[in-house]
Amino acid sequence: MSREQVFNFAPGPSVLPESALKRAQEDLLDYRGSGVSVMEMSHRSKMFQAIFDETKEKFKRAMRVPDTHEVLFLQGGGTLQFAMVPMNLLEGASADYAVTGNFSGKAAKEARKYGSARLAADTTATGHDRIPTQAELRLNPDAKYFYYCSNNTIYGTEWQYVPETPSPLVCDMSSDILTRPVDVSKYGLIFAGAQKNMAPAGLTVVVIDRRLAGKELPITPEIMSYQTMIEKDSMLNTPPCWCIYMLGLVLDWLEEQGGVAAMEQRKHERAQKLYAYLDESGLFAAHALPGSRSEMNVTFRTPSEELDAEFVRGAAERGLLNIKGHRITGGMRASLYNAMPMEGVEALLAYMKEFEVHHHV
Ligand code: PMP
Repeated sequence: MSREQVFNFAPGPSVLPESALKRAQEDLLDYRGSGVSVMEMSHRSKMFQAIFDETKEKFKRAMRVPDTHEVLFLQGGGTLQFAMVPMNLLEGASADYAVTGNFSGKAAKEARKYGSARLAADTTATGHDRIPTQAELRLNPDAKYFYYCSNNTIYGTEWQYVPETPSPLVCDMSSDILTRPVDVSKYGLIFAGAQKNMAPAGLTVVVIDRRLAGKELPITPEIMSYQTMIEKDSMLNTPPCWCIYMLGLVLDWLEEQGGVAAMEQRKHERAQKLYAYLDESGLFAAHALPGSRSEMNVTFRTPSEELDAEFVRGAAERGLLNIKGHRITGGMRASLYNAMPMEGVEALLAYMKEFEVHHHV
């Protein structure tokens, strides 16, 4: 199958804007008349420094990052942040964790190596089918921070409000960063693996209120210190140069499309279309409850695993790729990141409707 014949619903790494990929293709062997590829440049060269600075500026513009906050380009994925956050911010004390899915659960577990991670909320009992309300959050006024994951990639739930907490907010935005306007000033720290809405895998973006840095545990490896990375402008060591360059290209596309406000509008449109059908379908059912549903990862199933498998097989034959749910949950998952066009959702819906006609129960 060719690129024109498929829609890629992968949860990450996932679809990227075609214009960014084409620009990278043009630049691949010879970056804008320099005679070298971005992959071949020294990270200390003037040319790469310009790419780095521009990308950081574009990111700050897209997210409206206030001057109180620093943007870091790190490695180690979201998973390294599960450890970096408590090593730098917990000071051996206690933090509040809202466990609403797999990755916030992992983050809480990791934090317990460095102090105490109290459960401010835990939706495990109902299969992480919803997000707790503000009133349900059990908040400790002495917590060093409140940790949550704004979009649960596996379960398909998304926080539709910003929690109000006595302690600084720390948020894993790996799967919904740059998909809506965010008031960054409300956050102590935001992190996101790049491989969904930003760039290829290998880059993690951290936005941190500088006032929170510099309190890392003495055992913290230098490369895991936010303070050191702030001082070195993310270049204590070699940064993920290619991914940073790609993020710049994706941000060019984002800006041309109307920025995060336009992304929010599109994500509503894409997801609402799918959920509307799921709610009236006699065969398919959505996993997440209304009010908690993710507009990035739409999770659903049929009444049987056999039918689910048949659906996934048929989807792949039609070029609707990577629709299988995560191994923890089974079922299906359509990941609708920024670069997914509405035509992808329409093609999926057409197939779902046809499948339902043939498999009505
Ligand atoms: N947080 C979220 C919300 C995720 O979806 C993922 C991975 N898909 C992670 C954290 C872990 O990220 P990584 O694989 O980059 O370590």
